[in-house]
Amino acid sequence: MEIITRQQRMASVAKKLRRDNLVLGFVATMGALHEGHLSLIQKARQMCDQVIVSVFVNPTQFNEETDFEQYPRDLTADAEFLSPYDVDYVFAPEASEIYGDNFTTFVTVDDISDKLEGSSRPGHFRGVATVVTILLNTIRPDFAFFGQKDAQQVAVIRRLVRDLRFDTEIVVMPIVREESGLALSSRNELLSESDRAAAAVIYKSLQAAKEAFENGEKSSGNLTDKVSEVLDSEERARTDYIALVDPNSLEPVEKVGDDPVLLAVAARIGDVRLIDNVILNEKQ
Ligand code: AMP
Repeated sequence: MEIITRQQRMASVAKKLRRDNLVLGFVATMGALHEGHLSLIQKARQMCDQVIVSVFVNPTQFNEETDFEQYPRDLTADAEFLSPYDVDYVFAPEASEIYGDNFTTFVTVDDISDKLEGSSRPGHFRGVATVVTILLNTIRPDFAFFGQKDAQQVAVIRRLVRDLRFDTEIVVMPIVREESGLALSSRNELLSESDRAAAAVIYKSLQAAKEAFENGEKSSGNLTDKVSEVLDSEERARTDYIALVDPNSLEPVEKVGDDPVLLAVAARIGDVRLIDNVILNEKQ
């Protein structure tokens, strides 16, 4: 496993691999690696000849300076975490390597970037779309792997890749959870032990709505009320949003029909903002 810190080196290595007709798989991460990242890496390993993992805490997708500063970073631990998994390259650039002097070009995926997470975190998806564009242009992978954990990010990246004709296929993997149901996230490291236990309420609230749906409840209002009721039962939780939306357009759905719908939640547990979601009517 080679750790690459220079953008040009990453681009030339990837170019050579493509010339050798190898199938390239790419997993973009912000580090603090866990089993959720691992499921993407393992899928990449199964599908591709060469696996490239980026570890880059992207400054342009943070809208709060303290959130950016507090984000966990430990490249040595990440490299150790990856060592058993047959990853070929880790791309871990400094911010200045990605955003050099006079960097003024940003990619905006209109409309869907402003909803849900976008309304709480203005500019977040502009930062995501921009860095993903730079990473895809550097590596030009055949496949790029993303987690359903960040459902809106998936919608934004699918749209970006479709609209700008990136020659990369997007593969989405299911959410990996702790035994308590809490979705794995690098941000979980910031939770105290008691807050971590309290955070399990987020998935419980989604499960309660999913159960109600499976028992015949189709009304958006009733399903989101169910989520809200369970979240409110945990005094450490403060709800940011609960939304029942189309997974691609992110437009609100009033009544669940035959198509898959995304039930997404953001909540703060103490100072830590967490997101989670389930799909209702998921097609197998
Ligand atoms: P991050 O390092 O948080 O930017 O995440 C990098 C990638 O891993 C993104 O595509 C995430 O959606 C994915 N990911 C993070 N946590 C999970 C999880 N618990 N289950 C599945 N994928 C995840």
